[in-house]
Order: sequence, then structure tokens, then C-alpha cells
Amino acid sequence: MFKRILVANRGEIAVRIIRACRDLNIEVYTVHSTADAESMHVRLADHSICVGGPSPTESYLSIPALLEAASLFSVDAIHPGIGFLAENANFARMVEKQGMVFIGPSPEHIDIMGNKIHAKKMAQQFQLPLVPDSQGPLTDSTHAHSCANTIQYPVLIKAAGGGGGRGMRIVHEKKDLESLIDEAKTEALQGFGDNTVFMEKYLTKPRHIEIQMLADGKGNALFFPERDCSVQRRYQKLIEESPCLLVDRKKVHDLGVKCAKALASMGYKGVGTLEFLYENNNFYFIEMNTRIQVEHTVSEVITGIDLIAWQIRIASGETLSLSQDDITPHGHAIECRINAEDSETFAPQPGHIETFLPSCGPGIRVDSGIYNGSFIPPYYDSLIAKIIAHGTDRPHAIQRMKRALAELVITGITCNIQFHQKILNNPTFIEGDFHVHWLEQMNTE
Ligand code: ADP
Repeated sequence: MFKRILVANRGEIAVRIIRACRDLNIEVYTVHSTADAESMHVRLADHSICVGGPSPTESYLSIPALLEAASLFSVDAIHPGIGFLAENANFARMVEKQGMVFIGPSPEHIDIMGNKIHAKKMAQQFQLPLVPDSQGPLTDSTHAHSCANTIQYPVLIKAAGGGGGRGMRIVHEKKDLESLIDEAKTEALQGFGDNTVFMEKYLTKPRHIEIQMLADGKGNALFFPERDCSVQRRYQKLIEESPCLLVDRKKVHDLGVKCAKALASMGYKGVGTLEFLYENNNFYFIEMNTRIQVEHTVSEVITGIDLIAWQIRIASGETLSLSQDDITPHGHAIECRINAEDSETFAPQPGHIETFLPSCGPGIRVDSGIYNGSFIPPYYDSLIAKIIAHGTDRPHAIQRMKRALAELVITGITCNIQFHQKILNNPTFIEGDFHVHWLEQMNTE
């Protein structure tokens, strides 16, 4: 097992990783930007070093600065967290070149899955079902029109290197196709330095169902009960839960078995999530994330398995000692993402937290990176806390979440607690009969 780990990240996920390291009795070091000098992940680490200015390019994305910090602290491994360099194969390669372990899959697997077109090709090889698509990049306007004719409107233009919902455009009519492709390409180039786009059938009422995977790179791969992440805004997840009550149980189980076979035969190592859309009783693969995800918590809560601890153990060379039978769901879990943002406009709301009084009590877990007096800088993601409620069944988990949100106190900045409360009281949410476009449609009604 590792003696020392560097966490190359910030915020709630850095704090979560620090906690996993403490549980494994591993020394943990962090890096921070000048804007984060007083942050929770700095306070909880054995030691933290300032690696640069507030903008991510100067600090959390600066590979030379991070590698220098790692060598200064003589760490054995680097945990990249979520976002920043977590899915950057080049960073993974450089970490390994310096004789340290990158806590994640191989750079080759990060590369393949980081490109949605390549990931879909790979998924196809493993007989995973796909949404009808352009079978590769859109080359020119004639090609795009011909693909749209085959797939049929509405279609979705997506960036191959996309993430965070950027570089995506829905096209309802032929007359808008070329201009929306141009928009998607421009956004993709700005966001990811690559303007490759492709086309998919736009599904009008899908659920977002994903399968959390854990594999050891030695041919052992396990799947977790499905997560439903259909409550979204601007393609961003807001509420996640597990399991999903409205999927075909046999189909989702068979899908998990297929995913595990695929990752085992690839020799995939670490955690990863295969994301699917689910409509009319069918699953369609859309992408794979080769890192831990924000919503890993709901899977942990219903199975009692510490995914981040396992991610670290596997990176250190351990073989998976769990079997598929060890992964049984107990009850139901729901996560609400608390963002420092205006509930109406969704504009980020940075500032000083005056009071933070996290909820607790039976069935409640709070993962956060804030404390009384801490500062939410304007430069990063607006996620400040995650409330996870666990109950014997979905109504019980919802009831506990309502209690937790009513108890939760965050003053000094504006956040979206009330917005969550509104969703939890909505009859459609309570029935569970929603889809990925539901929240957006509800807000515009
Ligand atoms: P990103 O990597 O930018 O997050 P994804 O491919 O994971 O993009 O998709 C994000 C969200 O966009 C999905 O959860 C879903 O809400 C929506 N989406 C993606 N593909 C489709 C599709 N073919 N039809 C309808 N909605 C889609």
C-alpha cells in the first residue's frame, strides 16, 4: 500500500479523497491555488503547497507545478479527483514517467474513452447497444445532411471530446443543421481544443442510467446497482439516486454483466462509469467516464463499499477481493448537489460562507469542502456540498432528504437548497416518472 498520496484537486472531492486516505492510514498531501489558501482541503491535509494563481491553468491544470509538488513531497501516487486533469492521459503518462502511480486507469484507456467516437466504437465491439449515430465524425455539410436523413430529426450534434454538456446542439429542422454544427464546433474548439463533432439521434424522453464499475486490471470487474441521474439542468446532473425503480430489472442486470465482461477483457483498472440513455425499455450507451464521479456516494451508501478506498487499493496493486455477490443494494439513496448559485438564474454565487451547519442524523451523509468563514472563489465549479439520504425505500429516502434540507444552514452566499426542496415536492419527481429533459421543460412552462 502507498505511504503518501498527493491529491491534485480541490473542494469537496479533495476532502473526500483525504478522508479515504486517512481511513487507509496513508499520509495525504494537497496542492492549492492562491485563491484556495484557506480551503478545507488545505486544512485537512498533512501539508499543502501553493502551486500557482487562481485560474485553473495556473494551478490545478499546471502539470509541471503539480509534478514538482509531488516530487517535493516524495509521494508514491497522485489522485487526480474529478475534473481538472482526472481524464488527461498525458498527465497520467507523465506521472508514471516520474516513477509515481496515477490513481486511475491506464493512459491508453483514458485516451480511448475520452473521445466519445472511439468510446462508442469500443462499446460496439462489446455488443453494448448504441443510439443511432453518424458512425464517426461529421466531415462536411453533404455528409451531415445525409446522416440526418438516415437518423431522422431531431438529432443531436455532439463534440467527440465533449464534457459538461458543452459542444452539444439539438437540431429539429434541416434548415438549422449547418449553423448549429458550426456553433457546436466553435464551442468544442474553445472548450477542448478539438472541433470534431458527430451526430446522434436525439431521444425525447430518455432517463440517464449509469453503471458504476470497479475493476482491478487483472481480469476482475464488478458492476454496481444502476444510478439514475435524470434530474438535470443544462445537461448537468442535479439529483442522483440508486437504484432506479422504473427500469426493467432483468435488462439492467444483463447490462451490468455485459459491462463487467467488457472491462474485464479490456484489462481496465480502477473505477469507471458507463453511461446510458434508457427509453422505451432499451438502453443506449453514450459515454464512459474513466474517473470517480460526483454521484459515487449513492452507490457507496446502498452497498456499504468505499469506492475511493478501493480505487486507491487497486492502484497500489491489490487484487479485487470482492465478488459480485458482495454488491447487494440495501434500500434507496438520493443525492442532492448543493451549488453556490442563484436558484432562478443559475448564475454562480461566490463569496464568504457565514454559517455552515450541515444536517446529520439517521441516514444522512454530507460531503462538502466548506466551513464557517470559508471562501467560495469564483474560479471553480459551484458545487459546495452533497447531501446524501439513505432510506429503506425511495419514499423513506425522499422524506429523510426533506428533513436534511430543512436542517441544512448555509448563509453568506446564495445556494440552491430551495430549488431542491421544490423538486422533492413535485408530484412527477415523487412518482419517479421523469426524464432528462423534464426539469428544463418544467422550468420553462
Ligand atoms: P457530456 O460528456 O457533455 O456530459 P453526455 O454524452 O454524457 O455529455 O450527455 C450528457 C447529457 O446530455 C445526458 O445525460 C442526456 O441528458 C443528454 N443527452 C446526451 N445524449 C443524448 C441523446 N442522444 N438524446 C437526448 N439527450 C441526450
